Amino acid sequence: MNRETKWRRLIPLLGLASLLLGLCSDTVLARTELTIGVLAFRGEQDAIERWSATADYLTSSLVEYRFTIVPLSLEGMRSQVEQDMLDFVLTNTGNYVVLEDAYGISRLATLKVRHLGQEFTQFGAVIFTRRDHPELNRIADMTGHTMMAVSKSAFGGFQMAWHEMIENGVDPFTDLERLRFIGFPQDDIVHSVIERRIDAGTVRSGTLERMAAEGLIDLGAIKVLDARESDNFPFLHSTRLYPEWPFAKARKTPEKLAQRVAIALLQLEPDSAATVSAFAAGWTIPLDYSPVHELFRQLEIAPYAYLGKPSLISVWREYKGWIIFSLAMMLLLILMLVLIGRANRRISQSELEFRDEANQRRQAQELLAKHKDELEARVAERTAELAEINRQAQENQAQLAHISRFNTMGEMATGIAHELNQPLTAILNYSSGSLRLLQKRGNGDADAELHEAIVNIGNDARRAAGIIKGLREFIKRGEHKLEHFNLRGCIYSAVELLHPRLVQYGIDVRLNCDNDVIDIVADRVQIEQVVVNLLVNAADAVGAVDRPVKEIGIDVVSNGSGAVAVAVSDNGEGLPAEVIEHLFDPFFTTKSEGMGMGLSISRSIVEAHGGTIEYLVDEAQRPTFRFTLPIA
Ligand code: ADP
Repeated sequence: MNRETKWRRLIPLLGLASLLLGLCSDTVLARTELTIGVLAFRGEQDAIERWSATADYLTSSLVEYRFTIVPLSLEGMRSQVEQDMLDFVLTNTGNYVVLEDAYGISRLATLKVRHLGQEFTQFGAVIFTRRDHPELNRIADMTGHTMMAVSKSAFGGFQMAWHEMIENGVDPFTDLERLRFIGFPQDDIVHSVIERRIDAGTVRSGTLERMAAEGLIDLGAIKVLDARESDNFPFLHSTRLYPEWPFAKARKTPEKLAQRVAIALLQLEPDSAATVSAFAAGWTIPLDYSPVHELFRQLEIAPYAYLGKPSLISVWREYKGWIIFSLAMMLLLILMLVLIGRANRRISQSELEFRDEANQRRQAQELLAKHKDELEARVAERTAELAEINRQAQENQAQLAHISRFNTMGEMATGIAHELNQPLTAILNYSSGSLRLLQKRGNGDADAELHEAIVNIGNDARRAAGIIKGLREFIKRGEHKLEHFNLRGCIYSAVELLHPRLVQYGIDVRLNCDNDVIDIVADRVQIEQVVVNLLVNAADAVGAVDRPVKEIGIDVVSNGSGAVAVAVSDNGEGLPAEVIEHLFDPFFTTKSEGMGMGLSISRSIVEAHGGTIEYLVDEAQRPTFRFTLPIA
């Protein structure tokens, strides 16, 4: 077998081997899938067409990986980055800054854009009006005019101009007459300005030049407001320049892999398929995106939207004047409230004091009234006492007068007794003499009656002398002669003495003595005098009325406790109240010839013996005088 034959035999074997190797390499080098999230601002298809070549380029450069384009909306991209579903991110400048801040994606390269035959890594925005607009020459002139832009969230289509306007003292949301967002394409904005439908507009830098190159507009019809000059940037622009789209890695993506991707991107040739289909000139080292951050911060929009929310500092900056004014007003209000409070307190204090005073006055008045009442009551009491004292004084005076009259009477009685003593003695002597004469004559029975009469004359004269003597002694010295005697006998004597008068009136005397012998120690003559006085009054009373039976009762009762009571009653008319009141007063009498001394003297005698005398109406409704005496 020659050498050629041998090689010919080996060819199929080699083919088989290479096939096996190929299979083997595909199996051994199983590629890891990597995703590149791409912002599909012109739709998914456009994104895929634009960036698939780049993905393929990377797949061919990093053989162990397979890169796939994932077209996403702004929101879809945010969601997938948040869920760590992407390995790389290819998005516009503004969105990159948002995701960088929120999810830590970091740029690997910045896109070099090819525009009108030139390469650019930065872009800006142009704010413009029509050439012949008479009032708009600078951004600061825009206040009060109308403006058109893409959308509030379009970085190059509005936000760059917004930032520039703020820098020039014009707030597009408050200072313009009208602000209209019309979306893409931006060409409509340019037409609107030229056709005078709007005063001013803003578009991404290069748009005007492209439209002019396409013959859509005449750049001479445009007036750029506050046009800037920047190195290596030939397009009209009013704002500073910002870096183009970045290619970024997700937070989870390993550094080494990211480095390899960055190197691959930087090595892309301007005329490579990936570059051309992306309408780019390739990739350059990542630029500084901090101006974008600064812009967002100043505008207080994502990722610095929280700055737009009212914070103490922003509120202070915005409403400093109002806050100071409000604080001043509040202070004034507080001051007024404090002053009013104080005034109120003073008023209430004064009210309290006034009430206190009124209370005190009222209490004083009440006290005064109370004391006045008390004083009046006391005065009335004292007046009554005084009146009573006066009355008693008058009474005492009257009694004094009576006593003095009584004394006079006593003296008179003493005189009379003295005067009567001699005639009575003479009567006694004559009666004794008469008796002796009668005995001498010896006429016996013929003179018997005369004899008895003369004896009686003698007895009565002796009794009369005794009475006068006792009365004189009683009145004169207040003394009485005590003797031991039987009360019953004493009462008999008194009745005997009055016998003629009792007979004259036809009065029966009933003596009821619970004990035959009641011995007492007293002045017998005086006690007999008391009984005589009571019997005389009773006889006068009964004698003055017309009664079938005229009766005087004498009841003597010893009560067993050392006293004896003598009650003299009659069935006369009795005593009226006004008489009862003065019964024992000296000189009180209802009789025309009465002395009014009987009861007065009787009470003096009884009381002098330690007894009592009273008037009462007995059980049979008879007027009764009752006196008591101690038993010996
Ligand atoms: P005199 O008999 O001189 O009037 P008295 O002191 O003995 O004085 O009596 C005073 C008065 O008391 C009498 O005037 C009479 O009005 C009244 N008096 C006394 N005893 C009786 C009696 N038994 N019945 C009615 N009146 C009496």
